[in-house]
Amino acid sequence: MRQKTVYTASLATETNTFSPVFTDLQSFRDSFYAAPGEHPETPTLCSAPMIACRELLAPAGWRVVEGTATWAEPGGLINRDTYEHLRDTLLSELTAAMPVDLVVLGLHGAMVAQGYDDCEGDLLQRVRELVGSDVPIAAELDPHSHLTPARVGAADLLVAFKEFPHTDFMARARDLVRLARATADGEIRPLMSTHDCRMIEVLPTSREPMQGFVRQLHELEQSDPRILSISVIHGFMAGDVPELGTRMLVVTDNAPELGAQLARELGEQLYSFRGRTRPPFLDIEVALDQAQACTRGPVVLADVWDNPGGGVAGDGTLLLRAGLERGMSDVALGTLWDPIAVKFCFAAGLNARIPLRFGGKSCATAGAPVDAEVEVRGLVRQAEQRFGDSQVPMGDSAWIHFAGVDVVLTSNRCQSFDPSLFSVMGIDPGARRYLMVKSTNHFHDAFVPIAHEIIYVDAGAPYPSNPATNGYRKLNRPIWPIVEDPHNSQ
Ligand SMILES: [Zn+2]
Repeated sequence: MRQKTVYTASLATETNTFSPVFTDLQSFRDSFYAAPGEHPETPTLCSAPMIACRELLAPAGWRVVEGTATWAEPGGLINRDTYEHLRDTLLSELTAAMPVDLVVLGLHGAMVAQGYDDCEGDLLQRVRELVGSDVPIAAELDPHSHLTPARVGAADLLVAFKEFPHTDFMARARDLVRLARATADGEIRPLMSTHDCRMIEVLPTSREPMQGFVRQLHELEQSDPRILSISVIHGFMAGDVPELGTRMLVVTDNAPELGAQLARELGEQLYSFRGRTRPPFLDIEVALDQAQACTRGPVVLADVWDNPGGGVAGDGTLLLRAGLERGMSDVALGTLWDPIAVKFCFAAGLNARIPLRFGGKSCATAGAPVDAEVEVRGLVRQAEQRFGDSQVPMGDSAWIHFAGVDVVLTSNRCQSFDPSLFSVMGIDPGARRYLMVKSTNHFHDAFVPIAHEIIYVDAGAPYPSNPATNGYRKLNRPIWPIVEDPHNSQ
């Protein structure tokens, strides 16, 4: 019998179409790029299906052909040539691997390029054209994605991470590959049913009501052998595309009525959660009042909408400026992206006192640059912060000090994950009264042990955080909260 063959690859990023930080091939190479056969042993968020193929298919006698795996840090629109080049790279690898019995892809699902509102739909359709109708195509998605008819039509199996934060990306990749193998072996006939919730919302699963909702999805998957997989596509509010919004996705073993009913029921339940899923985000002034009322530090102030993990630049100054206006001192802020200011600091040297303009360069909404006479207190080449078991490169970084305020300037755009972003520069984060970080959710676990209090700050910008005022141009139907009752309006 001919040895069965799977082609597996990964092409992923999360596109904030409102961001000024455009994405090109260098953005992919700077973030993560593994040529065929060069993927490391540890999975990345979106390449986990490739590792699951190694674990589950190779030992069962399959030939696993690994293609390119690449990821760009979330940013703005992808340069058209870059997308087409990466897509065609994967397609030519697939062509060379044919005939194949299965295609397994690690996607993100919120990738938008110049001229392509639905990159993943385009990619999946071209894969389908190559392999024909009989070869199963399976892909893993981040729930912060867009579920388009083109994707559902081209793929046999789509599975998204259930958790946000995305702690289960490897577990869901294994689910995907198990189901994909059963499909290729003719044991199941997956059929995808979807329901459009007509909403967009932030849906953290580390708290209720989403925590219980995810538990229910696991129970349903165990309750009936016809229910193969259930995913919530949260949607991604910073991607202005026609299909933007939350959707339920139910995969059954060829049980269309059951799938449709379940997708609708779960989707209606999800819709009833709108407006009460996120932790309280406070206005800047309310947040600073609350911070100053604390008698002990450190108080962590999380600037949730200037988080590079959502595709913005991460050089915003709104929160810092508000603190400076109040004369707050004993403040440490990090990370703040400003490679030019870092260069100036390195050139001036350690302990130099220099006039420095930093931050606020990428766009008009993130606050004006700050001008200050600063002391260069720390310089670290290729600094790194921790994030769980991994190290996140901050690039060449500088610690500047002025008016009782310490700022960590970085050359890499990176979210604030861990207090080590301060300590690597020589700042003791536990000794500061106020810590300002740029992150929506991922900072939380690592800062809890040192924080006296944690406050989520809604500075209103630069991330397009209010769907009602974001001014979408491509959205193709009414959704909440842009309209109050989207199910009964045109
Ligand atoms: Zn996500």
